Amino acid sequence: MVIEVRNVDKNFDTFKALNNLNLKIERGELVALLGPSGSGKTTLLRIISGLEFASAGSIFFDGQDAGTRHVGERRVGFVFQHYALFRHMTVFENVAFGLRVVPRARRLSNTDIKKRVLSLLSLVQLDRLSERYPTQLSGGQRQRVALARALAIEPLVLLLDEPFGALDAKVRKELRRWLRRLHDEMGLTSIFVTHDQEEALELADRVVVMNKGKIEQIGTPEEVYDQPATPFVYEFLGNVNRIDCTINDGKVHLWGVQVIAETQDGGKCPSGTVPGFAYIRPHDIDFVEKGTEHAVPAIVRHVAAAGPTARIEIQIEGIPNFIEADLSRKRYLELGYKIGQNVFVSARAARVFPASAAE
Ligand code: ADP
Ligand code: MG
Repeated sequence: MVIEVRNVDKNFDTFKALNNLNLKIERGELVALLGPSGSGKTTLLRIISGLEFASAGSIFFDGQDAGTRHVGERRVGFVFQHYALFRHMTVFENVAFGLRVVPRARRLSNTDIKKRVLSLLSLVQLDRLSERYPTQLSGGQRQRVALARALAIEPLVLLLDEPFGALDAKVRKELRRWLRRLHDEMGLTSIFVTHDQEEALELADRVVVMNKGKIEQIGTPEEVYDQPATPFVYEFLGNVNRIDCTINDGKVHLWGVQVIAETQDGGKCPSGTVPGFAYIRPHDIDFVEKGTEHAVPAIVRHVAAAGPTARIEIQIEGIPNFIEADLSRKRYLELGYKIGQNVFVSARAARVFPASAAE
């Protein structure tokens, strides 16, 4: 199913929760809506599902205005963070529920319902637990039941609102793989809401970054991570150092030295000397020899060396904020840095915005 969101607004009284959203999701895509709490993700998902109406604009399913279809006819499956499984029903009956409430004329026979439910339960590897009640399951198992239940009606579209939000990190990762596999195998078109950037980057074909009811950027995980379109996307996705700088006729000076940087709006950058800010990823901070061009002196303030990368916090003379630098474990062991050590650093790459670009 191709899903199109065209010029959608949503107002709650005078509050604009969604502001002129446009988005096209292709058949078979898994798209993540990523943004902080309150950015409008749930509102958008509910409008797409038909549970909520847009104040302006429309949703199209395969080119057809979705408003003309009843919610029950849209073939949409839902999974929510706290999906209320029916406590008094077994796992089997929970999954069967959507099939039993279909009008008699279209309902499957009991034998076919049983077949469908058992095959779904085996897909999510819960066939052995089919007679259990929800309270007898772990959180991860419950969300797998919720997923099987959403899939029972053979949806074309699967909508998930922070489905793994309440689970611990290890189970979340495992369920992510489940979801990706089911999505691919069943040929679904899925929209997945999350405020967890790692989850979005790992799972989705494309990521829609939302902020304050607007779309900041739409792109593949690589695009939004490597080429953030706005300061907001830079700060929301992954670790980044934000450092004040000055822009002098397009040349960027950071820590008193000129650096190699890309200014966000190139030619449009105001002429003369203007204040700006630079984003530098921790892995783009380089430790260099004294005397290297563009290098500045710094002091090592903190080292966290557990794991595949070592994070080193450094302080540049005269600048209060510490700067984070990441080194591979191998390089960290070669350099053998200790707290208090004097070092020289330079920025391998930086992205610069004029201060006027900040909100
Ligand atoms: P998210 O899912 O990204 O956390 P929501 O879509 O739930 O964000 O909410 C977006 C904004 O709209 C929030 O400021 C929220 O308070 C507001 N909002 C959501 N639903 C309602 C409602 N029914 N009435 C009034 N305000 C609402
Ligand atoms: Mg929400």
